[in-house]
Amino acid sequence: MRTFAELDAALVECRACPRLVAWRESVAGTKAAFAGQRYWARPVPGFGAEDAALAVVGLAPSAHGANRTGRMFTGDPSGDFLFRVLFDVGLASQPTSTAIGDGLELRGTRLVSPVRCAPPDNRPTPVERNTCRHWLAEELELLRPTLRAVVVLGAFGWQALLPVLSAAGWPVPAPRPAFAHGAVVKFGDLAVFGCYHVSPRNVQTGRVTHPMVAAVFTAAATAAGLI
Ligand code: SF4
Repeated sequence: MRTFAELDAALVECRACPRLVAWRESVAGTKAAFAGQRYWARPVPGFGAEDAALAVVGLAPSAHGANRTGRMFTGDPSGDFLFRVLFDVGLASQPTSTAIGDGLELRGTRLVSPVRCAPPDNRPTPVERNTCRHWLAEELELLRPTLRAVVVLGAFGWQALLPVLSAAGWPVPAPRPAFAHGAVVKFGDLAVFGCYHVSPRNVQTGRVTHPMVAAVFTAAATAAGLI
């Protein structure tokens, strides 16, 4: 099995999805919203503890967030919301995440996503999701000795994660449990929590609030033995 460093080194060279490769690079060029900044414009590795007890599964990097900064959930409104929650729950060293090198550390927690390249309109296709699946599978295998809980942000991540867990040997029942905010399912020694995605749309419409998300993370961190 590869190490995290070996996995990340291979991941950032991946060009398996032509549409996503074209998009991640084009937004870094003529469409760059942060003029003057050099965009990462490559697949985004997981971020956080290599012996994490808690994993957070998102969707995919955003064009001007992680696709710019090169770090999961860093530099966009979703990340602003998420890291505030992680800090308040005691899982992050600071409430903000602006760039690699900003001093942020996660405690016992690792952020991953089922798709590692920014997709147009934040919508990967099922083919792209399936093509990218093996990267998530390998990262979860590396985390397996310590992983006790997962928070999944949104139905896309939920649908992407469960086949990975099943293939890796966690006892996922058929039919697979449905996604819902506040859902908690146990697959052997792993507790999986559903949470609405912390997207700007969900936040602006009031579908998700800080107390709602903090409650999920508090329960998941407790299940993981982190608090
Ligand atoms: Fe590779 Fe995943 Fe990016 Fe597709 S989305 S190019 S599989 S890293």
